[in-house]
Amino acid sequence: MTLHRFQHFIAGAFCDATETFESIDPSTEQPWAVMPAASADDVDRAVQAAHRALLAPEWADMTPTARGKLLVRLGDLVAEHANRLAELETRDTGKIIRETRAQIGYVADYYRYFGGLADKLQGAHLPVDKADMDVTLRREPIGVVAAIVPWNSQLFLSAVKLGPALAAGCTVVLKASEDGPAPLLEFARLIDMAGFPKGTVSVLTGFGEPCGRVLTSHSLVSRVAFTGGPATAKHIVRNTAENFAHTTLELGGKSPVIVFEDADLDSVSNAVVAGIFAASGQSCVAGSRLYVQRGAYGRLLDILQHKAERIVIGDPQDTRTEMGPLATRRQRDAIEAVLARSVEAGGTVVTGGRRPASQPRGFYFEPTIVSASGNAVPCVAEELFGPVLSVMPFEDEADALAQANDSRYGLASGLFTSNLSRAHRVIRRLRAGIVWVNTYRAVSPIVPFGGYGLSGLGREGGLESILDYTRTKSVWVRTSDAPIPDPFVMR
Ligand code: NAD
Repeated sequence: MTLHRFQHFIAGAFCDATETFESIDPSTEQPWAVMPAASADDVDRAVQAAHRALLAPEWADMTPTARGKLLVRLGDLVAEHANRLAELETRDTGKIIRETRAQIGYVADYYRYFGGLADKLQGAHLPVDKADMDVTLRREPIGVVAAIVPWNSQLFLSAVKLGPALAAGCTVVLKASEDGPAPLLEFARLIDMAGFPKGTVSVLTGFGEPCGRVLTSHSLVSRVAFTGGPATAKHIVRNTAENFAHTTLELGGKSPVIVFEDADLDSVSNAVVAGIFAASGQSCVAGSRLYVQRGAYGRLLDILQHKAERIVIGDPQDTRTEMGPLATRRQRDAIEAVLARSVEAGGTVVTGGRRPASQPRGFYFEPTIVSASGNAVPCVAEELFGPVLSVMPFEDEADALAQANDSRYGLASGLFTSNLSRAHRVIRRLRAGIVWVNTYRAVSPIVPFGGYGLSGLGREGGLESILDYTRTKSVWVRTSDAPIPDPFVMR
């Protein structure tokens, strides 16, 4: 079988890399494409080009309105090419086509939203207490941005970085994950078509070493926007000791979902299924810890088991499929290992816990529910990034909050109740960057996204995210014609 060959997009040109690697289709376990692996030289070339583009008049002097129009055009191109991008993402990561198509629709909207923001960025006039001074604050692009994404939802996670970065006037070197990079390398064609000046955005892929390390420690990089796991984030923070780049970290999660007895359990069960089994659980906001009030525990568990056992597992390109494979063999092995330790620690597998007999090939894993007693069971404490739901009972509001907040992560959370006053009390006390009430897994470009603790640093999305790609310049203009007074006294 002939393998597809993908190229890097560096300094406005599509090019091969000296080193390559094969990408595996997770539904067949067969190589299907050859990907370029960026060397240290490739990364340096991309960063140098981004630095030149940052200063070149084509970009530096482009009005914010014109930059915004380019972003809106990019959003339109993403929408026009959604089917191709979705097919590639599904092929390379195993995420089902229903989900990739829907998510790419959002991606287009993110670019349009940030396009609209480009000319809303304003400086300020500062009323200093000095009659002969006029002080203004300029907001300028922070510089060259290194944007790094993991393999799940690469197009989406790139949009929340590229969108505000380009709207603010920065230039970007975007590193796709070494797992499933096809959709981002294809997306580079749309950047080219949209008409961004050469070097404004480069797209490459490669491994943490050397590609990720050289990119995040490069002396010409001023801003690092990273999404990935906490272990890699520690390397990123060490790398940025070389350039003091302003860094945001969007990391993992172990998100709690709290269900009170007064909630509508049928409706809740759909939200819980969406939270943990969509994308085969490979989502940073996966609602992987379910806390159910004692009186509803047995009933909800029964409904969930029934629904989990009826999920249609199969070919991710088939629109009838509800759950595809995991993205990599490594991912499935890791999930199996945590699950084995969880059973040893007293967890009980209610359903799933195996590779489905119906799928002899591919990195498939059954939708799995484990009833557990608390954090001593590894699947309750550790992020699995797979279709494994841990379910625990709670007695009352205080108990629910104590268990839900007992985590080093704090990305998302879900709360199901029909008691409005209780909902507000719990919202206030949950330690998470996102609280979904009587819903789960909703996103919008208008709403900031990010977490507490091990879930990361900073927020992506929303109006303020553009400020993270700027720095201020304070400008003092003396308005008096009189000679400067006493030079030995600070003004
Ligand atoms: P990962 O941390 O292994 O890899 C992420 C990226 O970092 C990849 O592109 C990788 O090549 C790169 N990288 C690896 N070593 C590097 C280094 N030394 N320097 C620079 N870059 C390096 O993550 P993964 O396994 O691909 O993805 C899963 C993780 O991502 C999970 O923890 C998940 O929760 C998290 N995630 C978080 C969010 C969020 O928005 N909070 C969204 C999606 C995924």
